[in-house]
Parts: sequence; structure tokens; C-alpha cells
Amino acid sequence: MASPLPPAPVGVHVRAPAKINLALKVGPPRPDGYHPLATVYHAVSLYDDVHAEWAEPDEFELEVSGEGVDQVPLDDSNLALRAARLLARVHGGRDRLGVRLSIRKAIPVAGGLAGGSADGAAALLACATLWDIDLAPEVLRHLGAELGSDVPFSLLGGTAVGGGRGEDVAPALARGSYHWVLAFGQEGLSTPAVYRRFDELNPGPTMPEVPADLMNALRGGDPYELGAALTNDLQPAALSLRPQLRRVLDTGLELGAVGAVVSGSGPTCAFLVEDEEDAVDLSVSLSAEGVARKVLRASGPVVGARVVG
Ligand code: ATP
Repeated sequence: MASPLPPAPVGVHVRAPAKINLALKVGPPRPDGYHPLATVYHAVSLYDDVHAEWAEPDEFELEVSGEGVDQVPLDDSNLALRAARLLARVHGGRDRLGVRLSIRKAIPVAGGLAGGSADGAAALLACATLWDIDLAPEVLRHLGAELGSDVPFSLLGGTAVGGGRGEDVAPALARGSYHWVLAFGQEGLSTPAVYRRFDELNPGPTMPEVPADLMNALRGGDPYELGAALTNDLQPAALSLRPQLRRVLDTGLELGAVGAVVSGSGPTCAFLVEDEEDAVDLSVSLSAEGVARKVLRASGPVVGARVVG
């Protein structure tokens, strides 16, 4: 006798990680306004959680709780809602789908850690699972690129090279696990404002390339080499808009970090340390200095958006 089909899930829980950019090289703006990037993404163990539940047809509802909740839009500009609507429109067929999404944020908003993209990626995967839309990972990533350039990486996770405006992702040859201390800024930084300052500071940037020393360091798995190779072309722009970040970076290095970099467009500062014990020590001493709103430990690489329940 054929076994009965499993019941459709009532709810799906997806967890998606924050990213830091181990390298972020930025080229001259393209005619469409986007900057070409050569970046190395690294997913770290700081997660937003998205729950998706069935709702009435054509109803798309959202609630958000957690870190920075008052800065998260609840309207159709929210990346999780946009993801659900996009998936329903492109792959929903004739079905009139609906979903109730609930996001529990731990990734700070406008922190340069791609929290919104993590939510978009998580919502795509959660809705595809809930609605039983079976898509190959690369099809889901392709759809994710329509939402934002960091979304394909939020789905992929690990350590990956990003080209185009960041959306062309491919896993990097990388060894080892790394320990990080993350220092959150008092307030978020607007990504478009950081790019505008980048343009003012860099009238003629060259086409970006992923730095060879960073790729060698990742192949070797040595945190000291990796720490020395961390690089971000947006860092001077972020420091120019938020000069106090210089003190945060200097303090972390003085307290023993083997590398320090502003993540993406900032203001989160990421400090690389040798091992977990050093991560505990640095997070305690950096917190005591009072230079950051919040200090957390994380490790990477971790997997991208995954169904966890
Ligand atoms: P970027 O990916 O551009 O570097 P970021 O990591 O600095 O962004 P995000 O937390 O992704 O910052 O938020 C950027 C903006 O996206 C926010 O200011 C907010 O207006 C908008 N946004 C849309 N959806 C979300 C979401 N689900 N969570 C957080 N912000 C969101």
C-alpha cells in the first residue's frame, strides 16, 4: 500500500546568518548607478529567524521583534515581504497564496551585516517550503538577486567570492574556522550615503579585483595572515561619516585583535582573533572600554539560510 503523503507544513522556521565582508573592493559607478564589486563574503553565527505560516489567499502579513525593531519597515519595502510577494508572483502558478511572516531580529539594522538581505533570503526559503514550491538552489539565488545584491549570498552562506554588484556568488576555497568579535555602532549607517561619500573620496577608482593575499590567507587557514589581509574600500567613507569608528578599530587592535575591519558600509566593526578564548577576552575588554553600543562574539563560516523547523 502506498504511504500517505505527508501533511503540508503549518509553519516553517528558517534561520539566516549575518555576513561580514573580508574584502570589499569597489569600482566606478555603472550607468545604472550600481558600483561593480569584488568582494569576499563570510557568513557568521549571528542570525535572524523568520517564521512563515499559512494566511488567507493574497494576504501578506508581517510582524517584527528583536534588535532594532523600531527601524524596520513593516510595509511592502520590507525585504521579507518583498521576497514572499516575488516568489508568489513568479512561481506561484495559478494558486492564490498568502503568508503570515514573523521576523525575530538579532542582526542590527543598517549595520553593514546584510540583516535585511538575511530576512529576504529566509523569507524566500520559508515561503518556498511552506507553499511546496520546489526550486533548485541556483534558481532561488537568481530570484534573490532581484531583491538585493547580498541576498544570493545570504542563501549560499560559507565564504564566497561576490562579483557584479555582489550578486554573482561562488564558494571560495577556504580552510578553517575563524573567531570574530563584532562591535555594533550607536546608530546605523545608510548604505547609499556611504557610497556617495566613496564617490566623493575616489573620483577615479579602478575596476575591482579580489585581493590575492586574502585568497591565499583563506587557503592557508591562518588567522594572522587573514587578519593582515582584511580590506574594505568603503571603510574611509564610513570613517569620514562616523569618525568615532576609528577609535573603535584602534581600541580593538590595541586589545589584541589580529585584524580589524568595518563590515560592508558599516558601522559594525569586525575584529578577528586567534581562538575562542581570545574572543571571550576581547569581547569583555572591548565592552568595558564603552566604545560600542553592543559587543558580540561570532564564528564563521556558517551555512546560509536553512530550514530549522
Ligand atoms: P546593506 O545590505 O545595504 O549593506 P545593511 O546590512 O547595512 O544593508 P540592513 O539591516 O539590511 O542594513 O538594512 C538596510 C535598510 O533596509 C534599513 O534601513 C531598512 O530601511 C531596510 N529594510 C528592509 N527590510 C528590512 C528588514 N527585514 N530588516 C532590516 N531592514 C530592512
